[in-house]
Parts: sequence; structure tokens; C-alpha cells
Amino acid sequence: MHLNKRVLVTGGAGFLGSHLCERLLAEGCEVVCMDNYFTGTKLNIQHLRDNPSFELLRHDVTFPLYIEVDEIYNLACPASPIHYQFDPVQTTKTSVHGAINMLGLAKRVKAKIMQASTSEVYGDPSVHPQPESYWGNVNPIGFRSCYDEGKRCAETLFFDYRRQHNLKIKVVRIFNTYGPRMHPNDGRVVSNFIVQALQGQPLTVYGEGQQTRSFCYVDDLIDGFVRSMKTPDEFTGPVNLGNPGEFTILELAQLVIEYTGSKSKIEYRPLPSDDPRQRKPDITLAKSVMGWEPTIKLADGLKKTIEYFDWFLKRQ
Ligand code: NAD
Ligand code: UDP
Ligand code: UDP
Repeated sequence: MHLNKRVLVTGGAGFLGSHLCERLLAEGCEVVCMDNYFTGTKLNIQHLRDNPSFELLRHDVTFPLYIEVDEIYNLACPASPIHYQFDPVQTTKTSVHGAINMLGLAKRVKAKIMQASTSEVYGDPSVHPQPESYWGNVNPIGFRSCYDEGKRCAETLFFDYRRQHNLKIKVVRIFNTYGPRMHPNDGRVVSNFIVQALQGQPLTVYGEGQQTRSFCYVDDLIDGFVRSMKTPDEFTGPVNLGNPGEFTILELAQLVIEYTGSKSKIEYRPLPSDDPRQRKPDITLAKSVMGWEPTIKLADGLKKTIEYFDWFLKRQ
């Protein structure tokens, strides 16, 4: 018999998952962290391993899992283009088979389940900023499709399990998030720029750097996850979680150079195919239902992330 809530975090050894495990432990939950270490690392959760409420499980979400839990946060999936395009078939399997297995588990043990969906479900959006009601503009056969369509299908499965089996679901659509424990080599823009600036290498801006993104600091996002789980059962989402502050990639590069005090220059590289031109969340829904909005400014979040990478690169 468990007095505390038992919570499963799939992808728990990854960037977001490790922060979520930390937060749930701080709230007094028993945490089962499940990961196959494709992009995550034990280093991310090393500091949690002595905690008696923390349990680590090496497991691939595409295979069934029979355990007893009260809540599930389904984060398992490579998130950066380099990683999800490395084995695209496996990426789709992770999203789709992973969702089926976790929904099957949730159905058997009557657990509440949250899906880490993504702003990529909007593709290259023709509506700006993107509200949840926008159906998206996604290429179904391109290099990003394994991720985008995998996540879209996972959303479909969540809503069909809700309609067919009355599951308690929450779907959150995450916009670009950054912070300590991002993978230094996964090619995402914030980690790339910071590592390049700290190492005195040129910052690689793709295209002309006029494409925009909205960057959310990890602590704000994790707070959104936890709040979404606590919403009434009638609230399923999908709900956007992201920081509406919109910056061009060139502006981001200039800020990173300023905050690191680096002498690095900017170097322009070709724009990858299907690269969305602009992205900014409409967070009206999260504000009204969950009382959630980001509180950490890009300047402050970047400084904390720079501190982390400075430590990380020196310890290697
Ligand atoms: P990440 O790569 O650091 O974490 C993903 C974790 O999932 C890793 O630990 C990885 O080893 C694990 N994993 C991958 N495939 C697995 C499998 N088959 N079985 C078990 N574990 C597996 O990425 P992240 O940024 O922490 O992303 C976490 C989730 O949030 C992902 O589902 C991602 O799609 C979603 N998301 C993240 C962002 C972002 O900006 N960070 C934006 C949108 C959506
Ligand atoms: N499943 C799991 N853990 C469980 C229950 C189910 O991993 O505790 C997986 C199992 O692989 C199953 C899938 O979830 O095929 C979907 O379960 P569901 O009950 O919806 O359908 P089933 O395929 O069992 O009819
Ligand atoms: N980007 C860039 N230089 C880099 C890495 C990325 O200019 O070294 C650009 C990329 O083309 C995209 C934006 O930054 O327009 C965000 O890329 P990321 O891979 O972080 O996230 P996503 O494209 O999935 O939003």
C-alpha cells in the first residue's frame, strides 16, 4: 500500500524528464523514472538516485510495461531534429507504440496520463500565434514527419482512449524549451549557440536567422506540466505551454554572444528543409484554466543555462 502518489515518468533521464522527476520528488511523490537512454543519460538523474522515493527502470516504451502507478507523464521520445531523424522509423514507433502501451497501462491501473506533445503538430503554421484550435500545416512525408506525425497520432490515440475507455488524459503542446541538462550535441539552437560561444567557435545561424522561435525556461514548463495534471478531469487539453516572447534566431545569437562575453562571430549556414518560419504560442487557455504563464525572462534563463554549460564543459 502506498500512501504517496506513485508517478511514472517515461523519458525521465532526459532534459525535461529529469527536471520533472526532481519536481515530483520535491512534492512528496514516489517516482518511477523509465528510460532507454537513447538521448537521456544517468548523469541527469544521478543526484536523485539515493532518494528512497526514486526508482530507475531501464525500459523501452515501445514494449509493454506492467507496473502499478497513479499518474503517468509520457515524455519518452527523442526531441531534437538530429536525434529524431537518426532512426525515423523508431521515432514514429516510440510516439505511436509508446502511446498505446502507456495508454494501455493507464487503462488497466486507472491512472491519469499526460502526453508531452509539441508545437510541431502545427508544422509550418499559417496562423500566428498558434491557438490550440489551429489544425496545423504539416508535411506528412518530409524529414520532420516521423516526429510531427508520430506526435499527432499520439494525440489521436489519447483522445480515442478518452472517448472509448473514459481515460483521464492531459495533452500539453510544448513550445521550444531550454535550460540546464539540454544535450550539448543535439543540435538544438540554444545549446548549440551557448556551447559555440563558450568554446570561441562561430555561432551557426541557419538561413538568414530571420525565422522566429519563442523560448521557455525549463522551470516554467515543468510547473505547467504539474499544473495540467491537477486540472479537473473534464479538462483534457490540448493546451499550449510555452513562452510567448518571440525572438529571431539572429537576435538569440546576439544575446548569447553578449551574455557569454564571447568573441565568437556569426556564421551563416543553409536552412534545413521544412524549417518552420515562425512559432509563438497563444497561451490564453493555459492562463485561464491553469493560472499558468511563464515568469522567467529569456535573459535570466539564458544566464542560468550558460552557467550550466560552462560547468559541464569544464568537467569533461
Ligand atoms: P530528451 O531527448 O532529453 O528526452 C527524451 C528522453 O526519452 C530521453 O531520456 C531518451 O533517452 C528517452 N527515450 C527516447 N526514446 C525512448 C524509448 N523508446 N523508450 C524509453 N525512453 C526513450 O528530450 P526532451 O527535450 O527532454 O523532451 C522530452 C519530451 O518533450 C519529448 O517527448 C519531446 O518530444 C517533448 N518536447 C520537448 C520540447 C523541448 O523544447 N525540449 C519541445 C516539444 C516537445
Ligand atoms: N499494456 C501495457 N501495460 C499494461 C496494460 C497494457 O504495457 O498494464 C500495453 C499492451 O501492450 C497492450 C497495449 O498496452 O497491447 C494497449 O492496451 P489495451 O488494453 O488498450 O489493448 P489490448 O491490446 O490489450 O487489447
Ligand atoms: N538553428 C540555427 N542554428 C543552429 C541550430 C538551429 O540557426 O545551430 C535554427 C533552426 O534552423 C531553427 C531554430 O534555430 O530555425 C530552432 O531550431 P531547434 O532545432 O532548436 O528547434 P525547432 O526547429 O525544432 O524549433
